[in-house]
Amino acid sequence: MVETSIDKILEQATEELAGAVDPDAVGQLQVKYLGRKGLVTRFLRNISNLPAEQRPAAGKRANQVKKHLEKEFARIQKQLEAGNQVAERLDVSLPGRGVLPGCLHPITQVSREICDIFARMGFEVVEGPEVETDYYNFEALNIPKNHPARDMQDTFYISENIVLRTHTSPTQPRVMEKQAPPVRIVAPGKVYRCDSDLTHTPMFHQVEGLLVDEGVSFGDLKGILTAFVHQMFDSRTNLRFRPSFFPFTEPSAEVDIGCVICRGKGCRVCSHTGWLEILGSGMVHPAVFENVGYDTEKYTGFAFGMGVERIAMLKYQVDDIRKYFDNDYRFLRQF
Ligand SMILES: [Zn+2]
Repeated sequence: MVETSIDKILEQATEELAGAVDPDAVGQLQVKYLGRKGLVTRFLRNISNLPAEQRPAAGKRANQVKKHLEKEFARIQKQLEAGNQVAERLDVSLPGRGVLPGCLHPITQVSREICDIFARMGFEVVEGPEVETDYYNFEALNIPKNHPARDMQDTFYISENIVLRTHTSPTQPRVMEKQAPPVRIVAPGKVYRCDSDLTHTPMFHQVEGLLVDEGVSFGDLKGILTAFVHQMFDSRTNLRFRPSFFPFTEPSAEVDIGCVICRGKGCRVCSHTGWLEILGSGMVHPAVFENVGYDTEKYTGFAFGMGVERIAMLKYQVDDIRKYFDNDYRFLRQF
């Protein structure tokens, strides 16, 4: 009877061991049969409860089974481990995965390129806060409360007097308040407007420019912007200045460039006009100078602002602005 039950345990263990697929499974079986509370161990411990005449034979057989199982567990364990090592061994015929290098986002690249071009012309790069007061975002720029121009921009208000800046222009009064002319700055950064479609995102990037000195004319504005466009695109690119309105410049002009895609012949991107609008500009309004205490008799200046995404879309001929913000690696790695 007793011998039968230890042989049953052996039979069961052998069967289960045959089904073990990895070293972990063998380990678990080892615990099940030979562990402190294992079936064989318990059998051995219970031998003392057997009738005296059965004990020697039962003990002998149980020890045989124990030894046999210990050997078997070790053997199978070794076999499975060796098998795993083969599976884990490197397949040298596979191509290497490689480590992909990171790179700057295309918007960052274009923003830096714009600033670099102006820096070479003597402009200093400055930055301003993205959370801005109503005063710097609007009032200091000749946009008083209730001015219809506030409707031109869909503003995110944080409180009555705090906004997410709608343009990089607040940098102008911030710099002029602290610094006497001459001023020659470009200010890159994020701006926010409540707007989203194919060509608008709620957050986008601008680069603002300001030059103030004695005797600055609209001719200087044209010269600087022409030099910029020729470096940003190429020297064949035509420019045209269209009269426009901005509260903080007078006179104001929007600048178009000859379509860089069709070269003026007319295509979908330029709506078959041959021209693409790329920035707004103008001579600084005297009211802006008065707000920062500049002598309007002595100084004149010009300012301009451009959307970085707009320039990047034209430069790389991307038709949907949202692609820049989807973080799709297949898109981003092309730059
Ligand atoms: Zn075109």
